[in-house]
Amino acid sequence: MKKLTIDNFDLKDKRVLVRVDFNVPLDENQNITNDIRIKASLPTINKIINDGGKVILMSHLGRPKGERKQEFSLKPAAVRLGELLGKEVLFVDDCIGEEVESAVNRMKLGDVLVLENVRFHNGETKNDPDFAKQLAQLGDIYINDAFGSAHRAHASTEGVTRFIERCAAGYLMEKEIDYLGSALANPGRPYCAILGGAKISGKIDVINNLMNKVDTLIVGGGMAFTFLKAQGKEIGKSLLEEEKLEMAVDILAKLKNSKAKFLLPVDVVVAEEFTNDSAFETVSVENIPASKMGLDIGLETIKLFKDELLKSNTIVWNGPMGVFEMDNFAKGTIAIAQALVKATEKGAVTVVGGGDSVAAISKAGLEDKVSHVSTGGGASLEFLEGKILPGVAALNDV
Ligand code: AMP
Repeated sequence: MKKLTIDNFDLKDKRVLVRVDFNVPLDENQNITNDIRIKASLPTINKIINDGGKVILMSHLGRPKGERKQEFSLKPAAVRLGELLGKEVLFVDDCIGEEVESAVNRMKLGDVLVLENVRFHNGETKNDPDFAKQLAQLGDIYINDAFGSAHRAHASTEGVTRFIERCAAGYLMEKEIDYLGSALANPGRPYCAILGGAKISGKIDVINNLMNKVDTLIVGGGMAFTFLKAQGKEIGKSLLEEEKLEMAVDILAKLKNSKAKFLLPVDVVVAEEFTNDSAFETVSVENIPASKMGLDIGLETIKLFKDELLKSNTIVWNGPMGVFEMDNFAKGTIAIAQALVKATEKGAVTVVGGGDSVAAISKAGLEDKVSHVSTGGGASLEFLEGKILPGVAALNDV
């Protein structure tokens, strides 16, 4: 799945239409509360400026559902981008049409123009060919740097590539494809996947896909309890997906026949209430009291999981080991984050994918110490399910 990248094209004098992810959080006064996504797009933008191209940026923000709604405007993102680049950034309050085309025509080499939210038009999410064609008219080259939107076949991520010949990955996208694609397709062995989070339901396809690829599959977090119950254990008030019990029994049977080693928690931290100040204790998974719920993995489990991680040469991690938002139940997740860092130092390729494990590794302040932290929640999960992402597939092959 090798794709052309921005480095494969001569950008000089070219109108470079870039799909970025400027879907930034805004407060009620339209102040950006976290600009990490804008910062992450700077290498690609600077490359085009430095090479003497014209940068035309498009993105979605929120879910305006085809309507022009001021609270979803990309104007604040354009202003912030100007501050970060230290140069004027142009903004036009639509993404297609005459006004936009003339703004593009007026651009000089090295100029940067941000288009208004593509989701102000229904054609974006419907992947309408006419809308995609109008977007495509704005560029000579298309670059996709929005991995987090690549699992959706929308006009700005997929449709547009039907009308522009030269389509490639930006630097952010390239890194995601390298780690989630190539590294996990040809993993150094042993290869270990560690999954957690609240529910099995969103991750069944990930489990089914990974169990045939990995050497070890570890499951922690809330989802472990449905498996423990499927093994006939008493899990008290712990999270249970009753309707997924049968599926868990099936998965356990499949795992028995697969070559992958499968690990579940052996001890858990339990409490009576789902609050940080609820008294807690660690118990074996054989002795979970009926009145309590498991909210984190215990020390023995941490050791068991850690030993396995430190033996691995490739690790992919998705989902926290416990309710990491509450400090008393964050220890297991933080210990796993630290184990990933250690494994990375020893030379393993370590990939963290999915929204909550990213939040967890950031909470531990360790996001720079693993090989790759994926920016795309849904997109990275779909990658791990073995699906082909339309926004990636649409880019030119090497
Ligand atoms: P997900 O979005 O499925 O990855 O789930 C992430 C959420 O799972 C986080 O908000 C965690 O607090 C939650 N979680 C992890 N472990 C548990 C647990 N043992 N019981 C309840 N929720 C949990």
